[in-house]
Amino acid sequence: MLRRATVAFVVALAVCGCTGPETSRSASGGPVGGQPPAWALAIHGGAGTIPRDLGAERVARYREGLERALRVGSAVLEDGGTSLDAVEQVIRTLEDDPRFNAGKGAVFNRDGKHELDASIMDGATLACGGVAAVGTIRNPITAARLVMERTRHVLLSGTGAERFAEEQGLEPVGQDYFFTERRYRSHVEGLGAGGREGGGTVGAVALDREGNLAAGTSTGGLTNKLPGRVGDSPIIGAGTYARNGVCAVSGTGTGEEFIRHGVARRIAYLVGDGGATVEEAARRVVEGLLGPGHGGVIVLGPDGNVAFVFNTPGMYRGAADASGRFEIGIWE
Ligand code: ASP
Repeated sequence: MLRRATVAFVVALAVCGCTGPETSRSASGGPVGGQPPAWALAIHGGAGTIPRDLGAERVARYREGLERALRVGSAVLEDGGTSLDAVEQVIRTLEDDPRFNAGKGAVFNRDGKHELDASIMDGATLACGGVAAVGTIRNPITAARLVMERTRHVLLSGTGAERFAEEQGLEPVGQDYFFTERRYRSHVEGLGAGGREGGGTVGAVALDREGNLAAGTSTGGLTNKLPGRVGDSPIIGAGTYARNGVCAVSGTGTGEEFIRHGVARRIAYLVGDGGATVEEAARRVVEGLLGPGHGGVIVLGPDGNVAFVFNTPGMYRGAADASGRFEIGIWE
C-alpha cells in the first residue's frame, strides 16, 4: 500500500506512560477553543529512516532520552524561565546524549572527523547566533548563544568559532569526546555516499510565560560529508527561525534542501504574512518543496499549537505544555 508522503503529528501519536491529562486538541496538537497554554515546548531528535523493528530496548532508550530533554525544558518554562533558556537546556541535554547526532555521538565526516553545526534564535528581538563546522566545542548550542549575545555577528565557523568559544570560557574537548562506536561503524561502512545518512539532529522550539518564542537546532551533519560542509542547522532561516507572534521552527533533514528553499523562514512567512496555520505552513513547505524523504520540521505558534510534519518514515519528537501535555513520538 502506498504510504502517505507526509505525516502530521496528530493526537494519535504514540504517547509515553507519563502522558498528562488528555485535553481537546487540534490535528496539529494544540488547544482547541480553550485558553492557550501558559507555556509550550516541542522537541525533535531527527527525522529519517527509523526501522519499525528498532527493537524494544532501543525504542525505550530513545524515548528515555527525549523524555529527559522534555522534562528539562518543561521545568525551565514551568518555573517562569525564558524560551531561550528552555531551548538551550533541551538541546544541551540532547547534545550530551550519545544516541543523538549532536554533541557527543555526532557523525564522522569523510576524513573521520567530527564537525558540528548549531544555531539559536530569539523570537522577541530576532537576535540569533550560530556556529558551523566546529570540532572542539562540547555544546555547540551554547556557543551559538554566545555568538548571539556577545558578538555583533550571527555566524562563526571553524577555528574562529572554536577560539571564540574558548575565550568565552567554554572548555574545549578533543575529537575523541564525540566518538561513538555506532557512528564509527557508519563511517567505515561508507554510509552516506549515495544520499543522506545521518539522522539524530536535535532541535527545540519554545513559548514562555511572557509569550516569547525561541528556536534552536544542533547537529553533527551528514555521515561522510565533505570536510568543511555546512548544513542548514546553523543557518538562520534554513534550519532555525523564530519570531514572536508568528512561530518558531526547527528542521531536520537534507540540509542542502533546507538551505535551497529557506525552509524555516518560508514557514514563518506563510504563517505571518500568509495567514496559514502552523500546520498548513509546515505541510506546504515539507510536502510542496522538499522531496520525499528529505526531512521534517517542528513548528510552534504563539498560541501553543504545534505542528510536526515530516516526509520520512519517522521523526523522534516530543511535546509538552502547561496544561499537562507530555508526549513522545517516533513513527507516524
Ligand atoms: N539537517 C542536518 C544537516 O543537513 C542533518 C539532519 O537533520 O539529519 O546537516
